[in-house]
Amino acid sequence: MNRQQVFEFYSRLAEANPSPTTELEYADPFTLLVAVVLSAQATDVSVNLVTRDLFELAPTPASMVELGEDAVRDRIKSIGLFNTKAKNVIALSQALIRDHEGEVPQTREALELLPGVGRKTANVVLNTAFGQETFAVDTHIFRVGNRTGLAPGKTPLEVELKLDRVTPQPFRRDAHHWLILHGRYICKARLPLCWKCPVIDLCRYKPKTPPPKTVSPAVSAPNTLEPPA
Ligand code: SF4
Repeated sequence: MNRQQVFEFYSRLAEANPSPTTELEYADPFTLLVAVVLSAQATDVSVNLVTRDLFELAPTPASMVELGEDAVRDRIKSIGLFNTKAKNVIALSQALIRDHEGEVPQTREALELLPGVGRKTANVVLNTAFGQETFAVDTHIFRVGNRTGLAPGKTPLEVELKLDRVTPQPFRRDAHHWLILHGRYICKARLPLCWKCPVIDLCRYKPKTPPPKTVSPAVSAPNTLEPPA
């Protein structure tokens, strides 16, 4: 895509959703960080179901450590990888108390040193909690970047760096939310809903999905009162 097309691409996603944000529920940088750590290989909806209870009991690093690993595990056991995630939530809470006076750090380097926090999680926290222009490439953004031609790349890091290069103002801060939501609800993995896509004319993906066929009432509902001829 050329610059003008990229601008148009984001303009249309922005028009459809002027104030996008994460679908994870959180109250502050700490609860966002925990929610994002829990969201690996789990849906935002399933994470919200467990964090409502968890954050009421333990809204801070100190109260999370006090709650303890067993109790955290018990509360998050409906989501995938709950054993490792419970360990990481306690370990990262301890690290925040030990190294950052209980606050979530605002740099990628410091965030990536926390247990269970990789580049993607750090990017989400930097963007959503601290307003930085970062691009957290998850499975949806990776797919959308490649399919559309907006930011093709063989790895999430390649796609991220490409997005960073091509995404113009005023879209940089919210770009990753628009792309995630577009991938989650329109440009779906198995069957993209191309017929209702706002950027269909800009997208490079060739096998566009046609609209579903509407079945004529005459064919779908034969008149059963008529005797067979
Ligand atoms: S046209 Fe289809 S493949 Fe392209 S972005 Fe839209 S939904 Fe995805």
